[in-house]
Amino acid sequence: MDESDLDHPPRGAFCPLTDAAFPKGCRTCGAVYASADEFMRRTRPPAGGRSIKAVSDAGVRFLELYRNCGCGSTLMDFFAERRDASDAGDARRQRWVALLRCLQQQGLPPERCRAELRRLLLDQAPPDPSRPG
Ligand SMILES: [Zn+2]
Repeated sequence: MDESDLDHPPRGAFCPLTDAAFPKGCRTCGAVYASADEFMRRTRPPAGGRSIKAVSDAGVRFLELYRNCGCGSTLMDFFAERRDASDAGDARRQRWVALLRCLQQQGLPPERCRAELRRLLLDQAPPDPSRPG
């Protein structure tokens, strides 16, 4: 994908990885983006910064997409790189969404949920405070 396309993305070009991703709010100015399309329309790529990063976690391929809010804050969310129409791809997305919802039902904020989920999928142990050094 050409990054310059991100300046004027076609409608529906980006599919949020999870239903829980939207509505998305900016903590700085309070702007709310109801959908992925609205998010892409009303934000701009970060000036001089990398706006998109392809990541693969535990077989789930996705994009970390960075966009600047009208207030100048940089917002990030995960988007599906492309629809994997296979049963396996669908199963991975369903598992991701189920885990994300499970975490959110624990009362964790969405950003924290996604961070925890990534850590889980990457099989990274949380920092163990009892372990010396
Ligand atoms: Zn903002």
